[in-house]
Amino acid sequence: MSRLRSAMQKGKRTTLDVNDVTEPAKPPRKRPKVALKEEEARDTTLSSLYHIFNDQADITHFRSQLLDWYDSGKRELPWRTMATNEPDLNIRTYAVWVSEIMLQQTQVATVIAYYNKWMKRWPTVQDLAAATLEEVNQMWAGLGYYSRGRRLHEGAQKVVSELKGQMPRTVESLLKQLPGVGRYTAGAIGSIALGQVTGAVDGNVIRVLCRVRAIGADSTSPAVTEALWGLANTLVQPERPGDFNQAMMELGARICTPKGPLCTHCPIQSHCRSYRKVHIKQEENSKRLLGKLDKKPSTLSDIEDCMNSGTCNLCPTEPWDDGLGVQNFPRKPVKKAPRVERTLTCVVVRSVEGEEEQYMLTQRPNKGLLAGMWEFPSLLQEEDNSEAKHKGALCAEVGKMLGVKLNKSLFQYVGEVVHIFSHIHQTYVVYSVFLNDAEERKTQNENTQWLTRHALQEAAVSTGVKKILKLYESTTSQEEQITKDGKRKKTAVKNEKTLQTSKRPKVGTATNGVKQLSLSSFFKTVKEES
Ligand code: SF4
Ligand code: ZN
Repeated sequence: MSRLRSAMQKGKRTTLDVNDVTEPAKPPRKRPKVALKEEEARDTTLSSLYHIFNDQADITHFRSQLLDWYDSGKRELPWRTMATNEPDLNIRTYAVWVSEIMLQQTQVATVIAYYNKWMKRWPTVQDLAAATLEEVNQMWAGLGYYSRGRRLHEGAQKVVSELKGQMPRTVESLLKQLPGVGRYTAGAIGSIALGQVTGAVDGNVIRVLCRVRAIGADSTSPAVTEALWGLANTLVQPERPGDFNQAMMELGARICTPKGPLCTHCPIQSHCRSYRKVHIKQEENSKRLLGKLDKKPSTLSDIEDCMNSGTCNLCPTEPWDDGLGVQNFPRKPVKKAPRVERTLTCVVVRSVEGEEEQYMLTQRPNKGLLAGMWEFPSLLQEEDNSEAKHKGALCAEVGKMLGVKLNKSLFQYVGEVVHIFSHIHQTYVVYSVFLNDAEERKTQNENTQWLTRHALQEAAVSTGVKKILKLYESTTSQEEQITKDGKRKKTAVKNEKTLQTSKRPKVGTATNGVKQLSLSSFFKTVKEES
């Protein structure tokens, strides 16, 4: 029998005793699955009073302590100012939506500059809808998790084309209408921008609530998720739901941190079961040391521990670790190891008489990992083969794109760059090729472009591309010369290492008019973002 089901039955026994006695036994009836699911969720919170708040005075006290702390020292953040001062509901909802999407997976300190720039350029949902995906990607460059920017853009276009330019006004419609908006984001936007009375459970809130109510089971399990949402919805302050949710998040970010939480400064310490538990354990240990306690640990009273700990689906499954203290909560599932990939990539540089050097970039497809972003020509490395084979493969691909036949001796090994995506451990094996002629100028097309270094830095390129460029430049010392007309001109001077291996032959000598092929084959190895 599953732990969930046994806990359910235990919960029923403790809550439905009277009915069991007064009603004659009936054969079990089949119930619709949905009803059963709802009941499981309800029974989860009933499995032990230890994990919930059931005293109204306690709840009121919790709210006021938290909000007093928040009011006295909250961080001033641009989206908070917008949420408080912006009278136009549509703009306010849009502004909070943008901030919430940016804040997913990204630190507040990083988001601030991006947010200010974004809101200056696209102050309304209509402005964002009118932008191109290229512009959005460019603005997002460096923030990571690029699908977020794309979804904001898609959402804005949907609001303008399908919702007459009106942002959704309820949690349900935010969830239903906006791509990339899940339960948490809808709750956050709904409470902060629209004053809807709902909890919002993000990573910080999960940690705070798990500690406050000593919830130590896998924090991603359905039982824990439902319990946390139940707690958040119970605790939220009905008059200030947005401030309450932000206060919970801020507490998680500044006080109840993943490591080294500042419990002595915590405004809700008196409600915290894990803090209490740590104290009781410490007292027990010191008494034992002084010989004042039996060898066997005392049983905590019901109020100090979960009554159903043997079967409870919110209690920890792993033993208590004294060394961790309150950090025994929450428990995370073991992380799936990221996929390991190696990608051959080539920095293709051309020099045109009297102009700055230019780099060749190609655009990724509009779906999947880093959709629509620009990168150096790349190929997934299927096997761990030799440098000569790498050069051969890149030579063929770059040759196809340029519409010329290249010699693989033009290609130089540069080094390796590691870049970690959420689910991929990517190693770029970097090569370079330098082209002297203007022959390849004709390759400028929709999916391929030549950019100066400055333009490349401004373009919609990922952090991985910038790391590759940095590595390339570190092997080539750049001397900048200012020409008479004031233009900057770069002269590449190879360092010792590259001098040994690289000579920059002219591409023209190898040209025999090979036709450029479709780029789709080039990208077929790129995996979808999970
Ligand atoms: Fe977190 Fe400590 Fe406060 Fe409990 S007392 S909520 S563990 S900071
Ligand atoms: Zn329990």
